Amino acid sequence: MQISIVVPCFNEQEVLPETIARLTQLLSSLAASHGASGHSALYFVDDGSSDSTWAIIEAAAAQDPRVHGIKLSRNRGHQLALLAGLLTVPGDAVVSVDADLQDDLAAIPAMVSDFRAGTDIVFGVRRKRTVDTLFKRLSAEGYYRILKWLGVEVVFNHADYRLLSRRALEALGEYPEVNMFLRGVISQLGFRTSIVYYERQERFAGESKYPLRKMLALAWNGVTSFSAAPLRAITSLGFLVSLASIGVTLWALTVRIFTDRAVPGWASTVVPIYFLGGVQLLSIGMVGEYVAKIYAESKRRPRYFIDRTI
Ligand code: UDP
Ligand code: MG
Repeated sequence: MQISIVVPCFNEQEVLPETIARLTQLLSSLAASHGASGHSALYFVDDGSSDSTWAIIEAAAAQDPRVHGIKLSRNRGHQLALLAGLLTVPGDAVVSVDADLQDDLAAIPAMVSDFRAGTDIVFGVRRKRTVDTLFKRLSAEGYYRILKWLGVEVVFNHADYRLLSRRALEALGEYPEVNMFLRGVISQLGFRTSIVYYERQERFAGESKYPLRKMLALAWNGVTSFSAAPLRAITSLGFLVSLASIGVTLWALTVRIFTDRAVPGWASTVVPIYFLGGVQLLSIGMVGEYVAKIYAESKRRPRYFIDRTI
């Protein structure tokens, strides 16, 4: 049984030596206790880092034949870097884990055990988020709830720490989208799944490579790639506004016919104009979001290029 571990890395020079040390140790123990074959290996995907990340990977690969590197031609973002690794590496099962050691590596043997018991997808799920900032915790958990409410299937508090069998990886390879939101796609694959819980750790070193901007982009992508609910909400909104305008018309007529207070209204003219203008702009913007997505997908542009592998 060949196990591969894929680690996307973007400017991770501070943590990488420690990550490599811990993961090679883990490989040895997997070989000893869980029947991982000698071909089991680590694959570090360098997502266009500008620091010495690639040099560290090269040096480690020169020392240990179980360490490999996949260098992307430029920064493509976490999801595509991970995808590049997943679709490139060999192995009966592939585990993906972040470079920063926030995902407790002790969960990997449990994932491998589940895989040996016949599971295709093992989700690593954070039990608590005690080390995350209050903002991160609330925004992330709120986000999972919104996704669920919008009808997007995701495993609560599961990020990109998981094991995939060869079968599941082949299924993943059938998804051609450029706007890849792996959590959403993988929840759609089906097959036998299970969950392994772990405690979320502090980042071992270095800073988060997910600034708020990237985080919001990922969150937005998760919604618009998997849910047409915002588009449908526009229809409902349009319907409500139409109903409201019938009401307003009736009211205006009543005032005009049955009372003598019918001063030609400024408010009743201007308010609807502003209101409808707002609704229309919002709706057009919303539709535009999806059109932009169709635009990006219809070009069928390649998702990444691999510069070098070792
Ligand atoms: N990452 C990447 N490309 C990017 C941004 C991040 O490959 O453009 C990697 C990063 O090196 C790390 C993982 O994605 O291995 C998760 O990033 P990070 O730990 O900074 O995110 P956080 O845990 O703060 O959400
Ligand atoms: Mg992290």
